Amino acid sequence: MKQHFIDNRSVAGSSGESIPVIDPSTGETFDQLARGTAADIDVAVQAARRAYDGAWGKLSAAERGRLMLKLSLKILDHHDELTQIESRDCGKPVKQARADVTAVARYFEFYGGAADKLMGETIPYQAGYTVLTLREPHGVTGHIVPWNYPLQIFGRSIGGALAAGNACVVKPAEDACLSILRVAELAAEVGFPAGALNIVTGYGHEAGDALTRHPGIDHISFTGSPRIGVLVTQTAAERHVPVTLELGGKSPQIVFADADLDALVPVAVNAIVQNAGQTCSAGSRLLIERSIYDKLMDRLATAFSALRTGAGSADLDCGPLIRHTQLERVQRFLRDAEAEGIAKVAQGQVADDAPKGGFYQPPTLLGNVPVDHRLAQEEIFGPVLVTIPFDDEADAVRIANATEYGLAASVWTRDGARQLRVARKVRSGQVFINNYGAGGGVELPFGGVKASGHGREKGFEALYAFTVLKTVAIKHD
Ligand code: NAD
Repeated sequence: MKQHFIDNRSVAGSSGESIPVIDPSTGETFDQLARGTAADIDVAVQAARRAYDGAWGKLSAAERGRLMLKLSLKILDHHDELTQIESRDCGKPVKQARADVTAVARYFEFYGGAADKLMGETIPYQAGYTVLTLREPHGVTGHIVPWNYPLQIFGRSIGGALAAGNACVVKPAEDACLSILRVAELAAEVGFPAGALNIVTGYGHEAGDALTRHPGIDHISFTGSPRIGVLVTQTAAERHVPVTLELGGKSPQIVFADADLDALVPVAVNAIVQNAGQTCSAGSRLLIERSIYDKLMDRLATAFSALRTGAGSADLDCGPLIRHTQLERVQRFLRDAEAEGIAKVAQGQVADDAPKGGFYQPPTLLGNVPVDHRLAQEEIFGPVLVTIPFDDEADAVRIANATEYGLAASVWTRDGARQLRVARKVRSGQVFINNYGAGGGVELPFGGVKASGHGREKGFEALYAFTVLKTVAIKHD
């Protein structure tokens, strides 16, 4: 049974109730988690406040950064252990879990190094004044994390917050907490003061909601679905608490006729197969100039047919989905597609030795999906690539912008002027030219527009988001 981690130690939940931990590769329960309550959240927030007012708050920026760098190295020392935990808990192929561990270490490295480089400014003002700005931490920050990349999103969310001097309370997703709990233990081992980083496990409508409502929380970073993002924002607004929202996506990759298809095909496949398509910034819509549509679809069909899905430990192209209800949801989308005559152009295979109880969906390539169809509009969150032909540049931009989302996009063309023209016209938090995702890029500001959210994480932008700017005007003459 895994308990909460508060004040640098395991703390039993107040209710004594638990949540089963299910292995998505087998469907079997292999552990239990504490089912957090409002009382548990309160204990964690009080611990964070004590740390903020005490040992953690008294550290210099350089000392905070040094602790984060130590944690980064400690994570790398435990690379294999964390990889196994993440792979089993989420069903991730081992290589994906390994990449996620590398990424969380990199978050603490980047933000550890940045902690003492966050500075205010002096502002030229009237004679007789000196005006300066201070970047101060919010205080105690709440972090609500989804299940698709628990380690990475945990690191992304708290990296900037800790570096800026906040004390954190994290509510991981009920489906995937184990790696986060282990990293919190490692943080205690490298010397983080008690209460600087606290984890309360539990359901969103219980522990998550209690965190959002708690009067001791000064800022909320929420990563998850647009529906819950709205709820969290409404609740936080009642107390005027700022919120960073990282929500969903239906991200387009726009492929013009002159694109380098040799470079594109593996990137386009990976952009939807990575993490079984359970990626907020998955490249889930491929918009293809009509003159090359059939040629490119032939190549994609060959690639999709060769993909293999199986247990996380089998380390194939694709692992299982996180839970049974997620599999049913993806299968419902595919049944609708079939009923409505949308072509299933190609599909990968589930490996013969994949355990029978696992939540497996083979990668699927759909052809000629109408722009306004729900398959082209809604986030499927599974390994399903929707393809749409377009006629010209204006048509491509129109289709790219024709969803409620705006998280990531890419433009594939050799025409430099077109690259920039289209990048500027697509409404999206990130745009990639002749690549996609840029390998994660801890340094690169990330976030959405429209229903994909607001505020930015990653890069230096996150440090700004996790501080409050105070202007100090001194009259000396
Ligand atoms: P979700 O919104 O159901 O859950 C996300 C988190 O919110 C979980 O920890 C959950 O327990 C918690 N939660 C649920 N109800 C809550 C409530 N009433 N109050 C407070 N917290 C609550 O989303 P999910 O199904 O876990 O994750 C998938 C979604 O997350 C997708 O839409 C995906 O695109 C999005 N996502 C976005 C990003 C990004 O960076 N933009 C990254 C990963 C996932």
